[in-house]
Amino acid sequence: MFNKDDNMKPFDSKVWLSSPTMHGEELKYMIEAFETNWMSTVGVNINEVERMAVEKVGCKYAVALSSGTASLHLAMKLAGERLYGQTDLGKGALAGHRVFCSDMTFDATVNPVVYEGGIPMFIDTEYDSWNMDPAALEKAFEIYPEVKLIVTAHLYGTPGKIDEIRAIADKHGALIVEDAAESLGATYKGKQTGNFGDYCCISFNGNKIITGSSGGMFLTDSKDDADKVRKWSTQSREDAFWYQHEELGYNYRMSNVIAGVVRGQFPYLEEHIQQKKEIYERYRDGLKDLPVSMNPIPEECEPNYWLSCLIIDKDAMCQQVRGEKEALYIPEHGKSCPTEILEAISSINAEGRPIWKPMHMQPIYRMNGFVTREGNGRGRSNAYIKENGTVDVGIDIFERGLCLPSDNKITVEEQGRIIEVIRKCFE
Ligand SMILES: *Cc1c(COP(=O)(O)O)cnc(C)c1O
Repeated sequence: MFNKDDNMKPFDSKVWLSSPTMHGEELKYMIEAFETNWMSTVGVNINEVERMAVEKVGCKYAVALSSGTASLHLAMKLAGERLYGQTDLGKGALAGHRVFCSDMTFDATVNPVVYEGGIPMFIDTEYDSWNMDPAALEKAFEIYPEVKLIVTAHLYGTPGKIDEIRAIADKHGALIVEDAAESLGATYKGKQTGNFGDYCCISFNGNKIITGSSGGMFLTDSKDDADKVRKWSTQSREDAFWYQHEELGYNYRMSNVIAGVVRGQFPYLEEHIQQKKEIYERYRDGLKDLPVSMNPIPEECEPNYWLSCLIIDKDAMCQQVRGEKEALYIPEHGKSCPTEILEAISSINAEGRPIWKPMHMQPIYRMNGFVTREGNGRGRSNAYIKENGTVDVGIDIFERGLCLPSDNKITVEEQGRIIEVIRKCFE
């Protein structure tokens, strides 16, 4: 379908969605760990990255962990114990309790609820920020007034409506776990994300805005919580002469070698954000006259622009059918769909990605509740189509949206060719 003219020739080296961007100091700190033999989960690099996170985000305490998921897990455990008290061994801290969760997100936001025995209930997405819809959250409390915990993510580095969500949480006496895994460095009303939840988590996974190859952090203003997380993450050893255990433990602490990578990356956070912002703006300008929009930037937010995404206008969508694992579409003049655009991008050796498939559409969570702002998610009807013929917001963005190659190292020329290829899809 694509002419093999110059623009359509594949790139010699792949343009990634978002790959690690190293600078050199990472290696220095890793070697330092090696040469001083702090090849464990103790050392200067760990202390330094915790200090850097506290300084950047503006919270009081940071605990470096093996992943963002580990951090979310311990956040759920803290929340569960505070809300419901300690449970018997082997029974999660959220056992049997419903938890309101972002719906359009990575499953790592939600799985830790289940690790602690909780029941995720999904809250529909809003168009303004592509994050949890406060109106749907309010509706959910009408239906399930007993819920005491909310897990909310800032997708693609764009903060959600934190003030509204906090007001609703306070009204119902609920706590918030803030999943800022994708949004390190983003601000909401001038304040860094990672400050708004009762428990906050960030990630240094390989494709995030800065990386340790893996790793994550728990952020808090509570010394007690920080101490608990540090203790739990190192097998819950008591302060005793031998290995003494009063609580269940985990092996979740960050390695000092990994921390060396994060330490080398931290000074480049702002540079990465600037590069990602320029990528976003070039797509926005280059796609301006097409029937598409970029992922939204709500007022009073400065995202970290982690991934650039686009969404196709409703009337410019060609027919596209997605099964559980495959997709089909019918090409049409003047129209396109995410499947066609992703194929086109991939044909020139660049990597795009579908939008996070909403959790309420995932087979693993098919039995869990789902609430839209009309209140009529799953439960009233098991179809996604509402009575008025529209679908919920999460499905709609999933059907019409996609993530564009957003690597820090993409060149202006490469991005120009990607824009050209997208343009061709609408011819
Ligand atoms: C990456 C990510 C996580 C998990 O972080 P890991 O460090 O990969 O465990 C959690 N939530 C969201 C929204 C993420 O994007």
